Amino acid sequence: FPPERIRNFSIVAHIDHGKSTLADRLLELTGTIQRGHNPQYLDKLQVEKQRGITVKAQTTSMVYRHNNEIHEAIDKHDRPVYLLNLIDTPGHVDFSYEVSRSLAACQGVLLLVDATQGIQAQTVANFYLASECNLSIIPVINKIDLPTADPDLVKEQLAATFDLDPSEALLASAKTGEGLEQVLAAIVERVHPPRGKVDSPLRMLLFDSYFHDYKKVICNVAVVDGVLRKGNRIVSAATGKGYEVSDVGIMHPELKSTGSLLTGQVGYVVCGMHSTQEARVGDTLYQRRSTIEPLPGFKPVKHMVFSGLYPADGTSMSELEHAIEKLTCNDSSVSVEIENSAALGRGFRCGFLGLLHMDVFHQRLEQEYGVHVHNTMPNVPYIFEFEDGNKVEMHMCTDRYKDKKRKAIWEPMVLAKIVVPSEYVGPVITLCSEREGEQVQFSFITGQQALLKYRLPLREIVVDFHDILKSITSGYAIFIYEEAEHQRSSLLKLDAFLNTKKVEAMATIVHKSKAESVGKSLTQMLKKFINRNVQNSIQVVEAITGRVVSTERPLDYGFGVSHRRSPQSNRLGCTESTALSLSKIYCTRVPAAPLERKGVKKQLNQHRTVDIPREAFLDRMKFS
Ligand code: GDP
Ligand code: MG
Repeated sequence: FPPERIRNFSIVAHIDHGKSTLADRLLELTGTIQRGHNPQYLDKLQVEKQRGITVKAQTTSMVYRHNNEIHEAIDKHDRPVYLLNLIDTPGHVDFSYEVSRSLAACQGVLLLVDATQGIQAQTVANFYLASECNLSIIPVINKIDLPTADPDLVKEQLAATFDLDPSEALLASAKTGEGLEQVLAAIVERVHPPRGKVDSPLRMLLFDSYFHDYKKVICNVAVVDGVLRKGNRIVSAATGKGYEVSDVGIMHPELKSTGSLLTGQVGYVVCGMHSTQEARVGDTLYQRRSTIEPLPGFKPVKHMVFSGLYPADGTSMSELEHAIEKLTCNDSSVSVEIENSAALGRGFRCGFLGLLHMDVFHQRLEQEYGVHVHNTMPNVPYIFEFEDGNKVEMHMCTDRYKDKKRKAIWEPMVLAKIVVPSEYVGPVITLCSEREGEQVQFSFITGQQALLKYRLPLREIVVDFHDILKSITSGYAIFIYEEAEHQRSSLLKLDAFLNTKKVEAMATIVHKSKAESVGKSLTQMLKKFINRNVQNSIQVVEAITGRVVSTERPLDYGFGVSHRRSPQSNRLGCTESTALSLSKIYCTRVPAAPLERKGVKKQLNQHRTVDIPREAFLDRMKFS
């Protein structure tokens, strides 16, 4: 296929607008897969099926015989054949990084809009991503078979929101197949062919990679200039490392060796890379000994949410380690560090692109690798600025810099766009101001839909913002966010003390104005989790000034812990870490201070012991 017979395109859509269904249909229509054979072919992973979202971009080539009057000069039986490369992008905004890296390999997109739903937040986000990449945009109004479909209204929305010519919109039903022939024709006619130079030295864009059990690392590449052949020696522009191409081919939809990839083609390369970390997305690969200008790369991954992962329920640390290692081979956008927590033992601290990304990662660990994990409350990366001018990014509450004098804490902010039916505007505004949001814009997209833009601290949205937003708007709110600049804020580190012993895992960073209330609920919560019946001394102390924010009295009681098998052998004054490594926690009413005092044991046995399963304990640890 010469470049002028190649079209590289992608389908972008709001979730549930029919992207996967349409992709399957196009594969069927071009004979790439059998009809009805394998629904939602491109959504390979189980978690994607469950959530109905595509996490890992899957790319597929199809061969299409174009049938159009433009080519009437050509004999009907000799219609021109095109190679269409469909690059499937992830469907959620948390993955917009993945979306943009896939889009960089395309020249056009199908912007799919559900005819019953109209333009939604992700339609808008995807439109902007595609325009930034200078792609041809083909609006496709889907689900026109439904009785509530209102394609004319959607056309009006398209014109009003994006200045698109409404006559350019195609009407289709991915379900019945109506209008899909026109969609294929439009791809050929409206998306421009890749513009690479056939005779120039090889340059290709690495836009994705994943781990394959037999072939190891597989890179998805778009050949921009020149030709790639099996046996070629290639070099990474990012690292300077050299590789030998051992296999090259296309996805059709399974891997199919072709021995070479020509200018403009999209396919896969196996070249002996050992991990996907080595396959840097956005990297330019070129042939050894040639001189080339690297292609514009992508932004490096930015982790917005961090959470600790600890083995649970019979999963061992090494099993978890193995599972995480395997999974990060397939998702190089997750960062992993070993973490030691006094309370929770050994685990991992992982960084994610966003909340959904984090959920999906947890789910995949459990479903695909069968391990059980406990995850701690998500944190956001703060920047600590010290008196000496140094700045350090911190995504956990450590005491590592406690000796340095702190000048300021900067926190990540987001620009949130919320689209809701007009009647829910009131509660949404209330929620946003409670969460320290600053209104940036308030307008109506159509008569019934409002667009609200807020600047919000990321820390205020990582825990439950989305859930609350959904519930106060009966599920109608559409919420997307992009990162904004860091802001210097009045933040404090809040430490929790249990009988004057610090509980590291419960430390959290709070806004000054909320120190009191968060301190109170933390104290209440600690009190509850230890035992409703047993009185304990729990203090929450604000770390910087040492001022006690919230204290629960009396101070004369502590809690004892024992092994499950012998509740009698209570060991007093043990640390939280001992408590947590035990399967059961027995709370006992005992004097806290002079533990070694004689007679304690006797006194101990007079009191009822209550056990708290480790599960419940850890569950509550997540709250703060
Ligand atoms: P995605 O999230 O964009 O990938 O959407 P899916 O392809 O998973 O489709 C979401 C739902 O809409 C599924 O239940 C599909 O069966 C349904 N669907 C997709 N296209 C059509 C269509 O043209 N007509 C009708 N009636 N339903 C459709
Ligand atoms: Mg889908």
